[in-house]
Amino acid sequence: APISAADLDKIQVLGSGNGGTVYKVRHKETSEIYALKIFHDNSDSNFRRQLNSEMEILRHTDSPHVVKCHSIFQNPSGEFGIVMEYMDSGSLENVLKSEGAFSESKVADIAKKVLNGLHYLHSHKIIHRDIKPANLLVNSKMEVKIADFGVSKILGPTLDTCNSYIGTCAYMSPERLDSLTYGQNYNGYAGDIWSLGLTLMELYMGHFPLFPPGQTPDWPTLMCVVCFSELPSFPEGVSDEFRSFLHCCLQKESSKRWSVSKLLSHPFICKDSTIEEP
Ligand code: ADP
Repeated sequence: APISAADLDKIQVLGSGNGGTVYKVRHKETSEIYALKIFHDNSDSNFRRQLNSEMEILRHTDSPHVVKCHSIFQNPSGEFGIVMEYMDSGSLENVLKSEGAFSESKVADIAKKVLNGLHYLHSHKIIHRDIKPANLLVNSKMEVKIADFGVSKILGPTLDTCNSYIGTCAYMSPERLDSLTYGQNYNGYAGDIWSLGLTLMELYMGHFPLFPPGQTPDWPTLMCVVCFSELPSFPEGVSDEFRSFLHCCLQKESSKRWSVSKLLSHPFICKDSTIEEP
């Protein structure tokens, strides 16, 4: 039978985000450890759509690079829960906070793992739309998996939700921010690549790359920096391969950005190929 709330003991709170709280839980009979995300009861229709989207996507994904979903249930009080694979080292955002900036070789390893996850998603026509350090989970086997499908595919944030979740919007590509403002169409897959580029840069630099450490921008500043400003220059000591890889991810024009499959054969990821300009 699928796992339900009654089968699980809560051990601790792992974190809470957008619409839900995540617990570390133990299965009463098998002693297996899982992560349980409980969505706060909220009858808002956007929230319902987001929830359904997350559940629908999780139910259908099966990849070693995407956090596994074991069951989805609704308990008698009406709350929804998702029982997921437990990732014992938390998110890359947590790791960054506790261990500081990553070495280039560690970033390359993460890049490869996340690209494998994105390859799986994109080849199943799923656009993640919220790739950032907080949504990449790690375990002590050194696996890195993509999590949190809250804004994937079906529901994107609106300008309104952007103002309250600037943390998510900060990783959005120029065309994505444009489409929120002007309602234009854009190639969604390329948006995930932009977010990956910023995420990898952040892991290497130790802070969100488009702003000085500790600064939370307002909406117009973010829009201006992402869409119109030059990208920040990379710190000294970055290899040509890393520089070129970021360059391929962070093209402002989405059609010039590399696809997942092309990036998987980039020399930063695949040591025996050579650098090619986007
Ligand atoms: P968001 O803030 O993006 O909405 P979630 O609500 O999904 O994120 O998760 C909040 C936090 O809980 C994450 O940042 C992470 O630290 C932790 N977490 C989420 N899922 C898991 C999991 N499967 N295993 C371990 N920790 C998790």
